[in-house]
Amino acid sequence: MTARADAIAANLEVVRRRIDTACAEAGRPEGDVSLVVVTKFFPASDVRVLAGLGVTDVGENRHQEAEAKAAECADLALRWHFIGGLQSNKAAAVASYADVVESVDRAKLVGPLSRGAHARGRDVDVLLQVSLDPPGAGNRSGAAPDDLDGLARRVEEAGPLRLRGLMAVAPLGEDPDAAFARLARVRESFLLEHPGATVLSAGMSGDLEAAIRHGATHVRVGSAVLGERPTVQ
Ligand SMILES: *Cc1c(COP(=O)(O)O)cnc(C)c1O
Repeated sequence: MTARADAIAANLEVVRRRIDTACAEAGRPEGDVSLVVVTKFFPASDVRVLAGLGVTDVGENRHQEAEAKAAECADLALRWHFIGGLQSNKAAAVASYADVVESVDRAKLVGPLSRGAHARGRDVDVLLQVSLDPPGAGNRSGAAPDDLDGLARRVEEAGPLRLRGLMAVAPLGEDPDAAFARLARVRESFLLEHPGATVLSAGMSGDLEAAIRHGATHVRVGSAVLGERPTVQ
């Protein structure tokens, strides 16, 4: 293995152990939480290393970068998660390579996603991104909790999208434990109306333990596996 592959393997081992420990501490069975490695800013060669280490799911947040990397890695059996802010004029294109679109936060995205999935001839899994910001906070990404049910119905009505659950990012400057506790309550009421939408994507390098404590089924981990990204984003 190259030095880079060695470093990724070592980091991955640490992250997998953190997930197992957090599951055990939350009284959840081992294997209850899936790892999505966030590969944004890192080259396709790293994605290839990850696949060789048994990673099955990767996440990207920018359309052009994601599209190019997915094409370069088309020979690998990976599930591509789109986790970034989504423009409606890019949504159809995203649905042409993403297996899971985690950042659906408004009804305007549903039509283009549905068209893109249809053109590709396969189902695309959808998570609704829910905002954990206080109401009225500017620049929120994610739907307000009150809007989730309506948005979910739009997704359910639109083939070939499959509503699988919710995604959230803990707001900066707040204790992630408090934010994810709020998320768990939002999810609980959401599941009453949409019992099949059991996925909860929450938790990153810095807060995956708190997310797992509050029911995350998927964690999205970037820097803890691949190292620091350049700061320009
Ligand atoms: C970049 C990113 C992550 C991963 O963040 P790390 O702190 O590097 O683990 C997770 N989720 C989203 C939505 C991201 O944009």
